[in-house]
Amino acid sequence: MAVVSRCSRAATAATTANATTATTFAYLIRSLSPFSSSSSTFDPQNDLNNRNKPAVLGTLKRESKGRNVQWVFLGCPGVGKGTYASRLSNLLGVPHIATGDLVRDELASSGPLSSQLKEIVTQGKLVSDEIIIDLLSKRLEAGEAKGESGFILDGFPRTVRQAEILEGVTDIDLVINLKLREEALLAKCLGRRICSECGGNYNVACIDIKAENGRPGMYMAPLPPPPQCASKLITRPDDTEEVVKQRLRIYQAMTRPVEDFYRSRGKLLEFDLPGGIPESWPKLLCALNLEDREDKQSAAA
Ligand code: ADP
Repeated sequence: MAVVSRCSRAATAATTANATTATTFAYLIRSLSPFSSSSSTFDPQNDLNNRNKPAVLGTLKRESKGRNVQWVFLGCPGVGKGTYASRLSNLLGVPHIATGDLVRDELASSGPLSSQLKEIVTQGKLVSDEIIIDLLSKRLEAGEAKGESGFILDGFPRTVRQAEILEGVTDIDLVINLKLREEALLAKCLGRRICSECGGNYNVACIDIKAENGRPGMYMAPLPPPPQCASKLITRPDDTEEVVKQRLRIYQAMTRPVEDFYRSRGKLLEFDLPGGIPESWPKLLCALNLEDREDKQSAAA
């Protein structure tokens, strides 16, 4: 995907963390040194303020130092955080870091944490803040060694404590809160399929909510796998009805307050998904003041 970002710069205003968070997030602090500007950087002040964007974006004020974006995706299980975070990651050339993937990788590695994590994840519960921060720090450290800069976080922070720790060591530019009608969330989780070979995410659910009592209908087409993945599809063990319902309850209790945390700091962009990828992706880009030339070209072809 090719990006035309009207965004020129973003900045970091890293604050000094207290001793505990500095130790826990030692890597994150190091990662905050400003990077040279690139085409994928983001200047909320110049780029969003001037374009009649939602008021919340207009309140983002950053000292410009120049570095890649540091964004967070929030949203209920099944909303599509992974899908849109991964598309933006390709578009902007910054890593998409999903803490759920880090947990699943750790699980698959049969390391010392593996059996403990398995029990937590299969019950739809949250892993402890300490474990998740440790996994995230290691991932960022490995990325830095490969020359990565900036990030789009998906699935982190999920508790106010995680948000406070993150805020203590870095200055997140923007938090995109994806929202989807509740009726669709469970169906999307149950329809999720993953290619066991390439890790690609697909969905067999066809969501067709009829218009009712003045509420518009909504259609989300299935996302079928390409032929080479079709015979290798697996279902996540935590995508059963019982566990998804538990994850949704935990989201309400533990993660909903994280939305308020960022809302009160003027960083939250609320984005109601209007439907599937064809309707939602262009609207999301518009809300972010970004353009995907390749997507436009393929749509026009
Ligand atoms: P979801 O589809 O529910 O958003 P994820 O793939 O993001 O699921 O995460 C899968 C599981 O990994 C979670 O149910 C939880 O057990 C664990 N996990 C992921 N991120 C975090 C986090 N930030 N804090 C605690 N646990 C997490």
